[in-house]
Amino acid sequence: MARHFTVLIIGGGNAGLSAASQLLIKKPSLQIGIMEPSEKHYYQPAWTLVGAGVFDIEKTVKSEGDFIPKGAEWIRDAAATFEPEMSQVTGRSGETYTYDSLIVAPGIQLDWDKIKGFRETLGKNSVSSNYSYDMAPYTWELIKNFKGGTAVFTNPSSPIKCGGAPHKIMYLACDYWRKQGILDKCDVHYISGAGAIFAVKEYAATLSKVVADNNITTHFLSNTVEIDGSNKKVYYETKDASGTKVRKELAFDLLHAVPPQSAPDFIKNSKLADSANAFGYVEVNKHSMQHSRYPNVFACGDCTNAPCSKTGAAIRKQVPVVVQNVLAFLAKTPLTASYDGYSACPIPTQYGKLMLAEFDYSNTPKMTFPFDQAVPRWTMWVLKKNVLPWLYWNKILKGTA
Ligand SMILES: Cc1cc2nc3c(=O)[nH]c(=O)nc-3n(C[C@H](O)[C@H](O)[C@H](O)COP(=O)(O)OP(=O)(O)OC[C@H]3O[C@@H](n4cnc5c(N)ncnc54)[C@H](O)[C@@H]3O)c2cc1C
Repeated sequence: MARHFTVLIIGGGNAGLSAASQLLIKKPSLQIGIMEPSEKHYYQPAWTLVGAGVFDIEKTVKSEGDFIPKGAEWIRDAAATFEPEMSQVTGRSGETYTYDSLIVAPGIQLDWDKIKGFRETLGKNSVSSNYSYDMAPYTWELIKNFKGGTAVFTNPSSPIKCGGAPHKIMYLACDYWRKQGILDKCDVHYISGAGAIFAVKEYAATLSKVVADNNITTHFLSNTVEIDGSNKKVYYETKDASGTKVRKELAFDLLHAVPPQSAPDFIKNSKLADSANAFGYVEVNKHSMQHSRYPNVFACGDCTNAPCSKTGAAIRKQVPVVVQNVLAFLAKTPLTASYDGYSACPIPTQYGKLMLAEFDYSNTPKMTFPFDQAVPRWTMWVLKKNVLPWLYWNKILKGTA
C-alpha cells in the first residue's frame, strides 16, 4: 500500500531542504516526506573557490541526515516515475508514495557524455571541471602547476546551473598566473555557447574589461563537442561568416570544461516535463511555480522551466513563493505569492575582488546593496567566501534565511 504525505518533496538538495524547513516553521503539523537517495549533501557554489585553491573541498560536503528538518521523514529512495493523475510517485525501490501536494526539486543532470571523450579524460591529461566534487581539487592542481601555454575554458550552449561558473574560474586562474609573473606566457581562450560574456549589459561591461585586461580570446556561439585528452585537443562547432556550421579545433595545455546540462532523465520522461522545452524541465507557471497542468504539483530549483538563471540565489527567492502557494493550495485559498525571476551570480574578477550580479527575468539589475554592484569589491568577495557558506549550512537549509 502506498504511503501518504501531506507534502511530498522530491530531492533533499538546496531547494528541497529549504522548502521542507520553511513549511515546517509555518505549519509544524504537516506530514512531510523528503525522497532523497544520497547520504551526502553538497554546497556546490564553493567548488569554484576550491578550484582556485582558496576553499577546502571537505567543507563543501556534510551528511544529509544532519539537515533533514525535525518533523519531516527522510525517504531513502529515488523517485523513478510520476503518476500525477493519482497524486502518486513510484520510487526506484518499487514503493509507492501518495501526496496532497508535491514539490519537485531533484536538481539538474550533468550530461558529460554529450561531449565526446570528456568523461574518459576528466581528471587526467590536464582536463578538469569544477562541476564535480571529485574534480574541483584537480582544477587547482592544474592552475597551480601551469607554467604557460594554451589554457582553454568552455561553457556549453545549454542552460546550466550557475551560468557564471565557467568563466569565474578563468578570471581567478588569470589573476593567479599574473601574480606568478607568467600571464604573458599564457594564451587563454574562452569557448562559449552563449552570444556574450553575460546577459545583463551593466555586468557584461565590467566582465568585458576583465576579459580584455587578461588578453582572453573569446569564441562565442561556439559549442564544445569533443575532447581528445591524449592529443590535448578540444573541438567545437560554430558558424562561419556565411552561416555555415563549421568544426574547429584548439590545442590546449590546460582545459577547464563544463558539461551540457538538462533535466534529470526521470523528469524528462515524465508527464511533468514541458514537452516544448528541449531540455525536458518541469513545466511550471514562472511566477507561482505551480505546475501548469497538475495544480497540486509545484517545483523549484534547477529542475524547472522557469527562464531564470539556475542558482542557489534564485532558490532563496523561489522557496518562500512555493511554500506560501503550497499552503494556500492545501487551504483551498487563492495562490498569491509570485516569483519575479530574481537570481544572483557572484563573479570573482580576481582574488579578493568580486562583482555580485543580481537581476530578474527581464535581465534588469536588482541590486541589494546601496552601491554600484557592477564594481568588483573586497566586501563581496568576503560575502561569497565566508558569509554565504555559513548562511547556507546554518540558515538557508534550516529555513530561516
Ligand atoms: C561549480 C558550481 C558553482 C556554483 N556557484 C553558485 C554560486 O556562486 N551561487 C549560487 O547561488 N549558485 C551556484 N551554483 C548553483 C547551485 O549549487 C544550484 O543552483 C543549487 O544547488 C540547486 O539546488 P537544487 O535543490 O535545485 O539541486 P541540488 O542542490 O543539486 O539538489 C538536488 C537533490 O536531488 C537529489 N535527487 C536527484 N535525483 C533524485 C531522485 N530521482 N529522487 C530523489 N532525489 C533526487 C540529489 O541527490 C540532490 O540531493 C553553483 C553550482 C556549481 C556546480
